[in-house]
Amino acid sequence: MTGAPRPSSAAVGAASLDVVVVGSTNADLLVQVAAHPAPGETVLGRSMAVLAGGKGANQAVAAARSGARVAFVGSVGDDEFADAALTGLRANGVDLSGLRVVPGSTGIAIVTVSADGENSIAVIPGANAATDADAVRAQADLLARARVVVVQGEIPRGAVEKAAGLARERLIVNLAPVIALATQVLRQADPLVVNEHEAALAARALGVALPTGASDADVARALLDAGVRSVVVTVGADGAHVAETVDGAPRVMHVRSPRVDAVDTTGAGDAFVGALAQQLAAGTPLPDAAQHAARVGAYAVTSVGAQASYPGPGDELPHV
Ligand code: ADP
Repeated sequence: MTGAPRPSSAAVGAASLDVVVVGSTNADLLVQVAAHPAPGETVLGRSMAVLAGGKGANQAVAAARSGARVAFVGSVGDDEFADAALTGLRANGVDLSGLRVVPGSTGIAIVTVSADGENSIAVIPGANAATDADAVRAQADLLARARVVVVQGEIPRGAVEKAAGLARERLIVNLAPVIALATQVLRQADPLVVNEHEAALAARALGVALPTGASDADVARALLDAGVRSVVVTVGADGAHVAETVDGAPRVMHVRSPRVDAVDTTGAGDAFVGALAQQLAAGTPLPDAAQHAARVGAYAVTSVGAQASYPGPGDELPHV
């Protein structure tokens, strides 16, 4: 762990939680197609399913299935999609005392998956927009009990910044999708978890000028140099680059992902983040935690869906 000292876990008390995820929960309407429609084109879908999704819920479920005690802070609407959005959280014993039910529609994602496993997604935020700074402030006690607080970009900026302010120990910021955040929140991230595309935008937000042709490892290092406590850049089948400060010196490591046959990459990044949070809450050093998370991410791409594709106790992870 890098950065400023945090309260010891003993100070958090016996009733501590491993992970609190502050984020989105959606009903995913998953459509399987042979190939994605081009703009203006109509294609026939093979099947449709309604699944629990949303980055926050996905990450909470991934952490819980990895063995963490998890609480979720978020919102659903008072419509027929709320139950679908909460299925995975409920089934995996996630504490929902921080969940709000608000008038209107639950968040919805229309996910189209092609035969080669690539997905395209349109998200309607719905009730997720109600997870604002006030909603997070109301859960201050829950956040204070967490070893690791996890946030992403599918809820309003004020909620993410409030959660960062209330995180007593470790904060994971998954800047997905990329939203404008106070730069101090990006710097507080330990780690900031981004894919290649998000990493470039995070660098821009921090005023980092990247040289042409900078590698993903270079970008991870540049983010660290810009003051982020630690950085993980995920690079799909190639695994992830981890940048952290060790004994006062920067260190960048590559962790490989196992080779697997990708069926559906939906939620792979969330599987990675959830498993990473569980590992860090358990005290695993960041590079080892990222290596484990890469194996969980690889497992998640081998079957259809997000939460439904995450490994649970007893499932064997692919080896690197
Ligand atoms: P995102 O979905 O957020 O863009 P990535 O595509 O980088 O995230 O995937 C997150 C993690 O999932 C990767 O670091 C890797 O461990 C795993 N992963 C994703 N795609 C594959 C793949 N095709 N083969 C093996 N592992 C994969």
